[in-house]
Amino acid sequence: MIEMKVKCPVCEEYVFEEEFERCPVCKWVLDKLQYKDPTYWGGSNKLSINDFKLKWKDEQLKRKLIRVAEAGDSKLPAEVIEILSEVLDRFFTTSQEKMPN
Ligand SMILES: [Zn+2]
Repeated sequence: MIEMKVKCPVCEEYVFEEEFERCPVCKWVLDKLQYKDPTYWGGSNKLSINDFKLKWKDEQLKRKLIRVAEAGDSKLPAEVIEILSEVLDRFFTTSQEKMPN
């Protein structure tokens, strides 16, 4: 097995030790081909690095938004947070899961 120390190109928080390892932070799988070409679709990850990164950033934003909505004096009702989360999910899905032609 080839040892490789590669920083996760998506979240930049995890360092991979070997190929096909899954990042525990963002769930990206280290794929050499995709790593060399950030626009490459299909491989160990369905999305290219560039698209996976966008999705990851959206998820971070969503989490942050929900965290803010749940905290503080102006706490939103659970129902509102649920609706917000669903709307955001739909928005992110439709904006990112388009396959390239
Ligand atoms: Zn990662």
